[in-house]
Amino acid sequence: MPKIGVLALQGDFREHLASLERLGQPAQMVRTVEDLAQVDALVLPGGESSVIDRLSRNYGLADPIKERIAEGMPVYGSCAGMIMLADRIENPAIARDGAVQQSFGGIDMTVKRNAFGRQVDSFEHQLDFNGHTLEAVFIRAPEAVQLGPDVEVISTVQAGPNDGQGRIVAVRQGKLLATSFHPEVTGSTAIHQFFINLTRGDA
Ligand code: GLN
Repeated sequence: MPKIGVLALQGDFREHLASLERLGQPAQMVRTVEDLAQVDALVLPGGESSVIDRLSRNYGLADPIKERIAEGMPVYGSCAGMIMLADRIENPAIARDGAVQQSFGGIDMTVKRNAFGRQVDSFEHQLDFNGHTLEAVFIRAPEAVQLGPDVEVISTVQAGPNDGQGRIVAVRQGKLLATSFHPEVTGSTAIHQFFINLTRGDA
C-alpha cells in the first residue's frame, strides 16, 4: 500500500490525516526532508498558502517537493494546497520585504486566491465530483481561472448569478489533484478515496 504523507507545516493537516485514516489508509505527517523521503504521495492541506510557501522554503522542503512532483509523485492539494500546486498565481501575496509568494507548481493553471469575494468569506455549495454529489465547504477559496490543455475539470460551482457555466473548483492533471474546497472538514470521503485510488494507480 502506498504511504501517504500530509504536509504538516501549517493549516488543517490533522483533519486530512483523520480523513485518510477513516478510510483505512495509514498517513503520516511530513515536516522534514527525511519525512518526505518516506512517503509515496503527499497531501497539501488548507491554510494560508503564503505561510506554507514561506515555511516550506525555510525548512528546505520546497525544492525537494518540486523535484518529487516532477518525478510523478501523486499530490492532492485542498484550498491553500490547490494554490501551492498551481503553476501560476494571479494575485500572489507580497511580503513586507517585497518577496512575492511562490508555489510548488505542477498543474498548468492560473489560480486566483480569495476568488469568491470578501463578503462571502465562506460558503457551502452542493457539487458533483466524479459522480458523487457532495456538500462542499469553501473558505476564502481560490478558483482556477485559466487551464492548460492537459488539465481536466472535475467540478464546477455556480455560486452566484453571474457564474455562467460555473467556476472551476476541482481539477486533475495526471497524478495531481486539486480542490478549492475542504472535504477534510465535512467528513465526506469521496475525494480522499479518489486520491487513495489515484496513488494506487486505480484512478
Ligand atoms: N486564502 C487562503 C490562501 O491564500 C486559502 C484559504 C484556505 O485554505 N481555506 O492560502
